[in-house]
Amino acid sequence: MDIHGKSRLIGLIGNPVEHTLSPMIHNGISEKMGISSVYMPFKVEREGLVKAVEGAYELNVLGLNVTVPYKNDVMNALVEIDDAAKHIGAVNTLVRVEPSKEEKSSSSGMHGFKGYNTDLLGLQRQIHEDGIVLKNETVVILGAGGVAKAVVYLCILEGVKTIYILNRTVEKAERIAKDMKQLEVFSDGVKMIPLPLADYDKIEEDAFVAFQSTSIGLSPNIEEVVLSDEAFYQKVTIGIDLIYNPANTKFMQLVTEHGGKAYNALKMLLYQGVIAYELWHEQKVPDEIVEDIYIELKKVVYPKDNLVLIGFMGSGKTTIGKEYAKRNQMNFLDTDAYIEKKAGKKISEIFKEDGEEYFRQLETSVLEELKNELNHTVVSTGGGMPLRRQNANRLKEIGKVCYLSAANQVIFERIKDNKNRPLLQCDNPYEKICKLMSERKPIYEKAADYCIDTNSNDINEVCNEIKKIMEL
Ligand code: NAP
Repeated sequence: MDIHGKSRLIGLIGNPVEHTLSPMIHNGISEKMGISSVYMPFKVEREGLVKAVEGAYELNVLGLNVTVPYKNDVMNALVEIDDAAKHIGAVNTLVRVEPSKEEKSSSSGMHGFKGYNTDLLGLQRQIHEDGIVLKNETVVILGAGGVAKAVVYLCILEGVKTIYILNRTVEKAERIAKDMKQLEVFSDGVKMIPLPLADYDKIEEDAFVAFQSTSIGLSPNIEEVVLSDEAFYQKVTIGIDLIYNPANTKFMQLVTEHGGKAYNALKMLLYQGVIAYELWHEQKVPDEIVEDIYIELKKVVYPKDNLVLIGFMGSGKTTIGKEYAKRNQMNFLDTDAYIEKKAGKKISEIFKEDGEEYFRQLETSVLEELKNELNHTVVSTGGGMPLRRQNANRLKEIGKVCYLSAANQVIFERIKDNKNRPLLQCDNPYEKICKLMSERKPIYEKAADYCIDTNSNDINEVCNEIKKIMEL
């Protein structure tokens, strides 16, 4: 990133801040949008909180995120608070309020930060995107901590009919219900029922949406779940776990095992960041960039040890892939072979009988099927696999993507005698290679995490290079 006189600082205050994923989200967006804003974490001691916020304003810091344990206390350091954040009692995003020119010259007017709660907005964006409709539904919220309050508020905004708040410490659930009932946004038509967690069998309705907002089940305690009674899960139509690590929590597993749909809340984390970024920079982050950041986030939160090889036909994906898998005791999967087995015919026959578009669709569905299943596997892909953007994205979720590159002439020499390449059954295969390569090379480069030159035809050298990449 180019840092210059107009570069801006954004950041996070909290304690601890060492494990935050926010720098990845914000610096990733800045880089992709070509905006010179740098995001830094700042560990702040409680007694220095107000001074830190005031100092940040004086230093012309563009905006701040706030994390535990200061989401409530930071309110004392703000000149304005957005209504929703005020009602929830938690602020996680600070946006500059600038005095007008006249106010500046008369030293009057507000200047400082305004607080927002983008956790709420992030969760709202996630459920809308996932097509979850809460209007007139019954919702059961497990937990009554900080994030549960945002969930209750969201339910009120979305027009939920009945909200049950279940918590181990029932007083906290009662407190939230009491606070929320006093809000203007609260309509008399909404029923809010606080209950002790153990009284889940008092829920009258036979079907409901459940939000899991306790800290139970968070990695590494992945086998734990706040409620385990089957009778509860039989009534859950949709279950949203606010925990995103592991990707499929015990709560989510129980929901799906009993026929419900389950979601984790990694997107909430992403969107709270995106919305904060948009507030600070007063511009929308394009959907394509949000999607790219989501994939990068998943790679960091759910790391996989798979290797994915992409490249033109004849670039060595299968030969090198098999060799690399053998040397490193990994499994090997060739997507073309996998598709042939599933379809019960050769790729050349699929092209001839069903067309290229049909084949590309098969590739997409195979990736969807495999993306969560593969571990410790080398995946060799068909030459056209990353041409579809959604395929390129799925490949990055599967593992580290290496583009094996080679010059057109080298490729031609390697495959000129092979009659099983449907795209090369033409009068001038070399010309066809050059044409296809000029279209595909930029796509391969964009889809890859790393590029490896295979012109030398030296398998040993290429395997060693891949090994270094896998160990990074
Ligand atoms: P919190 O304020 O500490 O609340 C924790 C909640 O878990 C309380 O309701 C607590 O009940 C309950 N709990 C803890 N241990 C329990 C146990 N052994 N049995 C029953 N209940 C128990 O935490 P929070 O800020 O609300 O966060 C909750 C979870 O949401 C976190 O794990 C975090 O991963 C997740 N979260 C996700 C996002 C996101 O972007 N996806 C954002 C924020 C939070 P008591 O009141 O009885 O102690």
